[in-house]
Amino acid sequence: MKMIEIRNVSKVYPNATKGLNNINLTINKGEFIAIVGLSGAGKSTLLRSINRLHDITEGEILINGASITKASGKKLRFIRRDIGMIFQSFNLVKRSSVLRNVLAGRVGYRSTWRTLLGLFPKSDTELAFQALDRVNIVEKAYARADELSGGQQQRVAIARVLAQEAKIILADEPVASLDPLTTKQVMDDLKNINQELGITTIVNLHFIDLAREYATRIIGLRAGQVVFDGPVEEATDEK
Ligand code: ADP
Ligand code: ADP
Repeated sequence: MKMIEIRNVSKVYPNATKGLNNINLTINKGEFIAIVGLSGAGKSTLLRSINRLHDITEGEILINGASITKASGKKLRFIRRDIGMIFQSFNLVKRSSVLRNVLAGRVGYRSTWRTLLGLFPKSDTELAFQALDRVNIVEKAYARADELSGGQQQRVAIARVLAQEAKIILADEPVASLDPLTTKQVMDDLKNINQELGITTIVNLHFIDLAREYATRIIGLRAGQVVFDGPVEEATDEK
């Protein structure tokens, strides 16, 4: 089943830098994809285009058959509900509790005066605890986010996406600032979620070794173009 279709997509930044140059990709439900390439190859630009954190210059992107490129307002918010983002810098609300941060994944569903006041239904709180449990960090639920280590914070970010009940995870260099041990924990969590929940996962990675270890398909980018797309066994070291 097609989850993401990227058709003839180009992105030119306002300063005329070409971020992406005619990308075509089809990503199926449940895939675990690593995007690899040197700094500046277009990895971030591609992820940001899929979620429409910025508009593309040409082409179209479909999420589960619906055009995120053409959508606006309520329709756009509806499509985005299915997409969870994970960033290198975690993007947590530092002074809030871990639980609050995970509950923030629910806000897209229920942004009413209650959620603005931090009042969530019991079912949301249960979902948040389940999510924390899945990434083995439930004992930190009431800690402040900035009291956690980097690896723990990234697991909270993963829990937030789980609480969102996202069908797609886009992770932009999620382990770039982590040491080898926590890198393994975070990548293991992403892999387990992918396998157990069938969440389609795209991870931008600097290192091909990690891509080989975890992904089932590797997409290589260079200068905004796809230079490799295939199963892990066929990926070589050249970029
Ligand atoms: P990475 O290599 O991890 O993607 P970058 O250093 O390329 O990080 O980008 C960091 C931030 O700076 C991003 O928000 C990106 O959009 C922005 N950026 C990158 N290159 C440029 C540029 N040439 N002009 C303006 N902003 C840029
Ligand atoms: P990667 O994630 O692979 O490091 P990026 O997607 O960040 O690559 O960048 C792709 C190209 O787009 C680079 O040439 C980068 O400098 C440029 N770029 C990225 N963000 C911006 C921006 N906000 N404004 C201008 N150019 C940018």
